[in-house]
Amino acid sequence: ISPPANVTTTLDVELKDVVKTFGEETVVQGLNLQIRQGEFFSILGPSGCGKTTTLRMIAGFETPTSGELHIQQQSMGGVPAHHRSVNTVFQSYALFNHMSVWDNVAFGLKIKKVSKLDLRQRVGEALKLVQMESFAKRYPSQLSGGQKQRVALARALVNRPAVMLLDEPLGALDLKLRKQMQVELSNLHQRLGITFIMVTHDQEEALSLSDRIAVMKDGRIEQVGTPSEIYERPTTAFVADFIGDTNLLSGHCKSTDTASLLTTASGLEVMLPVQEPSAIDAHGLNVSIRPEKIYLSPQTEHGLTSRYENCYVGKVQHTLYTGPHIQCIIELTTGERLRVLQPNHMPYKAGSAVYVAWAASDCQVLAPH
Ligand code: ATP
Repeated sequence: ISPPANVTTTLDVELKDVVKTFGEETVVQGLNLQIRQGEFFSILGPSGCGKTTTLRMIAGFETPTSGELHIQQQSMGGVPAHHRSVNTVFQSYALFNHMSVWDNVAFGLKIKKVSKLDLRQRVGEALKLVQMESFAKRYPSQLSGGQKQRVALARALVNRPAVMLLDEPLGALDLKLRKQMQVELSNLHQRLGITFIMVTHDQEEALSLSDRIAVMKDGRIEQVGTPSEIYERPTTAFVADFIGDTNLLSGHCKSTDTASLLTTASGLEVMLPVQEPSAIDAHGLNVSIRPEKIYLSPQTEHGLTSRYENCYVGKVQHTLYTGPHIQCIIELTTGERLRVLQPNHMPYKAGSAVYVAWAASDCQVLAPH
């Protein structure tokens, strides 16, 4: 897959075998990452997996215990935070409450002894970028959460960094404002054309904003890919389960040249795509099927049986109305329980008997544990 138009092939940030230990605990375990210039790159993972520590090492607030870190092809060994061409935006905004919006944004430039004329122009530009020019005289206590976050962005942008580091930048905002700020962040990234590296534990935010995502677990990368690769083609059970909802089936697999068949412990037989025979292993296999890839039909209709390779008889156990969709829990006659997403006009009621079907190509074969 070729990178999006604003992303070049030049690497802006590169981590090679980076390890970080705090005392006895190794929190980042041999990380390798290559982040391209202009990319919106997200590091996504559960609490405590080492995302923030990784970002803090790129920023220069933490030193790797071993390994190499390059920013714009230069080794960052011994380079302090203020000499790196990166700026960080924190979830807590970290604004100075006793300073006006203007002074908050100007602060870094004053320390660097930038000329008055240049300072005025750059602070004005940065505030304009985040649409906060008319709030320049206000103090942080007179701003909403979204406005504070925009000032925090302006304060980082005023330094014209090559790379913006964003640590859960929208984490303190309520859901509605968060969605609005996601659009603003994406617009800002497109207009500036610089590299954004964002840490988040919100999978939807990572999917909707990023060019590429690294999914982390226990200090290691599980998978790096575009949002659709991560969602449609997860390679491990952890990624399949962490990103969105999924159904995991496990069993033993037999493969011929024309078909692969998974048999679960309960005897359910599932046709798989004929692919990656190396992943088909004697010790058992995990397969992920997304809830929206499973189709239901009343038992009076036989259409599904002919359309999909996998078709079974099941019973609706439970339904949950979620607005645009109804989430159904279906129990197959072999005992497996599956989560199925249906459009909200579908009439399935708890207790109904249904056909349950999905295509072999919608079964994603996962790496063995
Ligand atoms: P969260 O989403 O909760 O912020 P995270 O994935 O960003 O989590 P980190 O903040 O990188 O995780 O922390 C990873 C591990 O390192 C945690 O177990 C944490 O307790 C530990 N840790 C982080 N900073 C330090 C430190 N300065 N000293 C000791 N342990 C630390």
